Amino acid sequence: MLKDKIVLITGSSQGIGKAIALKFSSSGAKIALNDIESQEENLKRTKEEIEKAGGHAKYFFADVSKFEETEKMIQEVQKEFGGLDVLVNNAGIVQDRTLAKMTSEEWQRVIDINLTGVFNSTKAALPLIIQSRGKIINISSIVGLKGNFGQANYAAAKAGIIGFTKSLSKEVGRFGVTVNAVAPGFIETRLTENLSEEMKVAIKNFTSLGRFGKPEEVASLIAFLASKEADFITGEVITIDGGLAV
Ligand code: NAD
Repeated sequence: MLKDKIVLITGSSQGIGKAIALKFSSSGAKIALNDIESQEENLKRTKEEIEKAGGHAKYFFADVSKFEETEKMIQEVQKEFGGLDVLVNNAGIVQDRTLAKMTSEEWQRVIDINLTGVFNSTKAALPLIIQSRGKIINISSIVGLKGNFGQANYAAAKAGIIGFTKSLSKEVGRFGVTVNAVAPGFIETRLTENLSEEMKVAIKNFTSLGRFGKPEEVASLIAFLASKEADFITGEVITIDGGLAV
């Protein structure tokens, strides 16, 4: 369904971003991987996995919280692949602490990467996406819809992504560009592996399906949103949480 589409996924050396890259590649897309330099080993591994399976991938370093770096990455992607059809804004971090204990630095860093990062890559990629009548998919979180104890910074950033998604969808619809967000619940990645066992059991008990999600399950939803099948869906936030928020 995504044959020869050019897809950039931020923060794609591991976790959900990597699963998205593998899924898109298995559907025939050409993959531009991105992460920060410290993740080079993981980027290499992901690129190799894609190539071993017969796909095509390159990786590009950029810290998405920095506009110049991000803009340079988009220029490199254009040079390498000749355009861009799909942008998946996936890069994200957590720095959890109750607001009483949260420092300004912890607040700012999470906003800079998780929210300003989405602005930076989307702003830089928008001319290419408009040119291809492409698709933008932003990874929000169930926490952006419901809030969560100890995550005021993360929840604010993820809720911000939802407002950004809806606003941009109104601006670029006339160019045939769709902009959607997905809001995953708890997915098995390094972001959630440090939760206490007690917390993991509590979260599972709150979901209808009694388990965490897999990165591949989020990737399937994103591949659908990036496909022609989803051409009439825009400005949406689609929850994928095993029934956590029901
Ligand atoms: P992860 O830590 O495995 O992957 C995130 C990737 O983003 C890492 O490779 C990291 O190096 C990269 N990254 C961090 N800062 C960056 C920057 N400044 N520039 C470029 N890349 C950067 O985590 P994950 O669970 O795969 O999370 C992926 C996305 O999904 C995040 O936006 C996260 O908030 C969101 N999400 C995750 C869950 C979950 O339960 N795992 C739930 C909801 C939403």
